[in-house]
Amino acid sequence: MRVLRGKEVRNRIFKDIEVQIKNFEDSPRLLSIVIGDDPASVAYSNAKGRKAAALGVMFKCLNINEKTSQKDAEGIIKDEIKNFDPDGIIIETPVPGHLDFVRLTNLIPPYADVDCQRMDNLGRLLSGKPLYIPATPGAVLEILKHYDIETEGKDIVIVGRSMTVGMPLSVLLLRKSSSANATVTVCHSRTKNLREHSKRADILIVAAGKPGLIDAEMTSPKSIIIDVGTNYIDGKLVGDVDFESISEKVSAATPVPGGVGPVTTAFLLKNLVNAYERKRNKIKHGAGL
Ligand code: NAD
Repeated sequence: MRVLRGKEVRNRIFKDIEVQIKNFEDSPRLLSIVIGDDPASVAYSNAKGRKAAALGVMFKCLNINEKTSQKDAEGIIKDEIKNFDPDGIIIETPVPGHLDFVRLTNLIPPYADVDCQRMDNLGRLLSGKPLYIPATPGAVLEILKHYDIETEGKDIVIVGRSMTVGMPLSVLLLRKSSSANATVTVCHSRTKNLREHSKRADILIVAAGKPGLIDAEMTSPKSIIIDVGTNYIDGKLVGDVDFESISEKVSAATPVPGGVGPVTTAFLLKNLVNAYERKRNKIKHGAGL
């Protein structure tokens, strides 16, 4: 089995943006907002902070207590945007259930929406003209491209229909483009006979947040597997795929850790570099987003 490591892909993205950042007049600023203490959200935010610092990006994590009301959370976020003046903003998900996520994302200026969380930006993605491709779906596409994995005409099965991963990824892979053009099936918690779908996939992308959901029985020798899952079991990071079980059977797979995660961080920072330029152009020309 071919192991599709994210490190190579990440390093290539970093090499490109490092040069751009060095040529900027000042440091791009990234604001990560964590509401509550979900371990995956905290880990994503920390990873971004480490990488941002290494690349000369000014990074701030805004921690908001999980019991904060909608009104107070909005006030805290508005104040922080005013004070820190970020080029890019990401609200780490999930947010606590009592909060209205859409209203929170509306506080992000469109040009700073580097993870494509605003509804209007998701609409642009659907229309084929995205301002930014969301980081995790973007990372999956970068991995497929880097390892020359053809998608045109392929049967791609995505497990998970979230607005962060599964849903935008399905749209991106369906696009009329030589780097997409796939036949996409999206499976979810109510899908009957997941195994039937997962087994016939040329490319199986798993983003369910369920450790061990996919084992060798759910795959075939032709399967190329991208594991987006990020789960912590007794403090240990594992994906949604039983890597050991599939490694004897499938054609290729991303490991966890060391697969999609590092590329996601890199892709987000690449979007930040674009956001920095977009904001400066807006200031110069007074138009556009
Ligand atoms: P989510 O909880 O919003 O969505 C999970 C999806 O999986 C839902 O659509 C649900 O219907 C589906 N699902 C759950 N159980 C299922 C089952 N038994 N069979 C079929 N479908 C099932 O999660 P999310 O935000 O999309 O994240 C999914 C996973 O990806 C999590 O582990 C998350 O931590 C991880 N993640 C990783 C990255 C990364 O960069 N590696 C980024 C974002 C999310």
